Amino acid sequence: MASTLIPNTQKKISSNVDDRIRLVGLGRNEILFHLENFGIEKQKLKMRTKQIFHWIYNYGVRDWSEMTNIAKKLRNELEEKFSLERPKIIEKQVSNDGTRKYLIQMSPGVEVETVFIPDVSKTGALCVSSQVGCTLTCKFCHTGTQKLVRNLTSQEIVLQVISARDDLNEWPTTQENRKLTNIVFMGMGEPLYNSNQVGDSLDIICDPEGIGIGRRRITISTSGVVPEIVPIGSRTSAMLAISLHAANDDLREKIMPINRKYPLKELMQACRDYPGLSNSKRITFEYVMLKGINDKPKHAKQLINLLKGIPSKVNLIPFNPWPGSDFECSDWATIENFADLVNKAGYASPIRTPRGRDILAACGQLRSESEKLRASDLRKLNKSNLKLLKTPFIPKT
Ligand code: SF4
Repeated sequence: MASTLIPNTQKKISSNVDDRIRLVGLGRNEILFHLENFGIEKQKLKMRTKQIFHWIYNYGVRDWSEMTNIAKKLRNELEEKFSLERPKIIEKQVSNDGTRKYLIQMSPGVEVETVFIPDVSKTGALCVSSQVGCTLTCKFCHTGTQKLVRNLTSQEIVLQVISARDDLNEWPTTQENRKLTNIVFMGMGEPLYNSNQVGDSLDIICDPEGIGIGRRRITISTSGVVPEIVPIGSRTSAMLAISLHAANDDLREKIMPINRKYPLKELMQACRDYPGLSNSKRITFEYVMLKGINDKPKHAKQLINLLKGIPSKVNLIPFNPWPGSDFECSDWATIENFADLVNKAGYASPIRTPRGRDILAACGQLRSESEKLRASDLRKLNKSNLKLLKTPFIPKT
């Protein structure tokens, strides 16, 4: 590929595409591997890797000239070969409630959605994707209508975090300027169908010399890929969330076909076996409230029975409509009643306030080829948002 050297800056620019190796998003071992191939002396390899890792993940540098503890000549040589470029954010939408949704192009045809959800104390969670599309077809989920394009690499998962931190302007990493404090793997895809890359990405995101997000602040959410649940807990020490949505096999099979492969009995056993499970490390069970489907008192009782003996909490999620969805959100009184029953049985059961619904960034709404909501869907959505604002629910603990 043709390339040119610009005399003043010594920057190597490709005439078409930047064909340098992108170091951002890689882990220590990969950076070391590339530096070794590049020709860094053996005795300096670890030191150089540490320096570059720190500049990338603690300072978020985008320009080699900022790496002031590396000699200028070497920096210029490194810049010839390695890039600090980020993937392109091809669309950014900001919701009325401050939620930010990014459409990031990892490579041509590979686009992922990532959502930053701020909370009241100016901290927030980043909802990252682990796959483009999904092989599962949970009936209430918009991503489930998009065919799997491919698994994301650990680098592409980390790049979602880097891109959000760039946009939030929170480099260098300090406790004071941190807005992105938590990460949830609840974006596009089933993380446990991509366990290795998810595990590797956590090693980079949690490294205390870089971004340094604690493992207890990272939640991996699964629809119930039973064989991978205990291994991912041992590998990552992350928190676990289960996309449950129904507490009996018949109903769960209807709305989550994965239940045919891994029925509730097996799923609950894997939850009981989750490493480090305790009252301070509870499993979160996600339960989307679908009108007339899973929201009756008998369903709440089934749920309570199912959770017996498992340190857990239940997140009740008012259904977020998307174009073409068949479901409706349960009425507010029904949701409250359901929450009350679960709460009285001793399980925290907050009702999640939908975030970013107006930009299709809420739970279950992600899909990279975003479509506009039908006017009727929009009316339903606005009606239920209004209700949520009027009737704040504070769970009894
Ligand atoms: S809920 Fe998760 S696992 Fe189910 S279709 Fe959506 S993205 Fe896939």
